[in-house]
Amino acid sequence: MSTTADVHASNQPARIAVIGSGPAGIYASDLLVKSELDVQIDLFEKMPAPFGLIRYGVAPDHPRIKGIVQSLHNVMEKNEIRFLGNIEVGRDITVDEMHEYYDAIIFATGATQDKAMGLPGEELDGSFGSAEFVGFYDGNPNFKREWDLSAESVAVIGVGNVSLDVSRILAKTADELLVTEIPDNVYQSLKDNKAKEVHVFGRRGPAQAKYTPKELKELDESPTIEVIVAPEDIDYDAASEAARRESKSVDLVCQTLESYAMREPGDAPHKIYIHFFESPTEIVGEDGKVVGIRTERTQ
Ligand SMILES: Cc1cc2nc3c(=O)[nH]c(=O)nc-3n(C[C@H](O)[C@H](O)[C@H](O)COP(=O)(O)OP(=O)(O)OC[C@H]3O[C@@H](n4cnc5c(N)ncnc54)[C@H](O)[C@@H]3O)c2cc1C
Repeated sequence: MSTTADVHASNQPARIAVIGSGPAGIYASDLLVKSELDVQIDLFEKMPAPFGLIRYGVAPDHPRIKGIVQSLHNVMEKNEIRFLGNIEVGRDITVDEMHEYYDAIIFATGATQDKAMGLPGEELDGSFGSAEFVGFYDGNPNFKREWDLSAESVAVIGVGNVSLDVSRILAKTADELLVTEIPDNVYQSLKDNKAKEVHVFGRRGPAQAKYTPKELKELDESPTIEVIVAPEDIDYDAASEAARRESKSVDLVCQTLESYAMREPGDAPHKIYIHFFESPTEIVGEDGKVVGIRTERTQ
């Protein structure tokens, strides 16, 4: 790789390859263009279209976040940046080959695959990583286009924003999503969605949930959804109390969860139960299919 000094001395723009056109790759390109270096950037992307998980991860009913696509688009319009879609580095071109043509290579390939949890029963029919389901509803061409959504009760493991997205999409009606950009095949599958109860499991307590306060509050905005937290799951040890004092965001999440735990039951047709202090130990199957989940109480 040549150094900045070499590049300046040659009077040629530095040739940079950026692998991955998600926000990381595009903002890295933007910073380079704005830097004192004279650069020419090739932005390699294995998908036909740019923007990574902003396109294929962020839920369709979050248009405000999808809106950053506009600023990413503005960066890509710069003359110094060339988009090369449908090229998978490692398959269509190797990194060694790229070294022949580029002064520097930036890897911004994200984390697009599910990680196994190592739970017995994880391989059963009816058990999926969130990337598969998210890939489906966001129209990622690498994932299957139809889903069997006949289960009336669905378990979602984890208490972060992806879990919120998945639960919300399962609990909303397909018609509520019509105002978004969901593809037709997704609308058709979601129309046949039979899920009435979504049970979300977190191993630790409310103060350790990784939700963004605003997104947690929004979970309850749909008239068809009621979020339920058991009062006995609202429990804080000294470390949790300290976490609440130190972080406004943690405190806001706890307040919202407390409000869900305190209110009277409503009559919304779809319920999202958020269970804390429950650690999944096994996905239970029958004839190769998921029929339940076993958890143990934690402290
Ligand atoms: C379900 C879900 C919902 C989310 N919702 C939100 C949200 O509401 N708000 C928010 O702020 N964040 C959200 N995020 C997080 C946000 O999407 C990520 O933090 C962000 O997209 C990460 O950017 P990145 O550029 O590092 O990776 P990515 O966006 O994953 O981009 C990486 C790119 O690299 C490409 N690539 C990978 N390997 C190769 C290769 N070998 N050759 C060529 N190209 C390659 C990929 O195709 C991809 O386009 C969500 C994430 C998920 C999974």
